[in-house]
Amino acid sequence: MHPISENLYQPDTPTITCPSCGETLLYGVKSCRFCRHAIDPTYARKSVTSQAILTHAVKSANTVRTLRNLLYLQLGLTILAFLWDPPYLQLILIVSIINLAGPIRWLRKYGRGDLDHPEILKAQKDMKIELYCWLGAIIIQATAIIVWLVRL
Ligand SMILES: [Zn+2]
Repeated sequence: MHPISENLYQPDTPTITCPSCGETLLYGVKSCRFCRHAIDPTYARKSVTSQAILTHAVKSANTVRTLRNLLYLQLGLTILAFLWDPPYLQLILIVSIINLAGPIRWLRKYGRGDLDHPEILKAQKDMKIELYCWLGAIIIQATAIIVWLVRL
């Protein structure tokens, strides 16, 4: 074990969870430095993959969550476009459809239920909410386009 990285927790450092005491350990250690439990290499490989998936899932869920601000902006732009510049409505709709891909991709990758970590379950719920929000935005924007076309 490298003495420098020992006390530095970085999300990208491969880590495992001690099966005995639950402490976070660096991948590759032979035994737990907290409870002296011997780490089985097969367990370590499995634990490090799920840990890596977890880190990745949480990170990309956060990216999808930050796009929510874009959604509010989009809805604001929809109202403005509807009132003053209707040709932009189609553009806004396309951006919404593109943004639908974020939660869909997340749910296809991590939403299958074989990951029952509380962080994943919370993210799963959030991603469903994001999905419905963007779907709702698409419906509102499509309606705005239809209304605008009918008015012509
Ligand atoms: Zn331990």
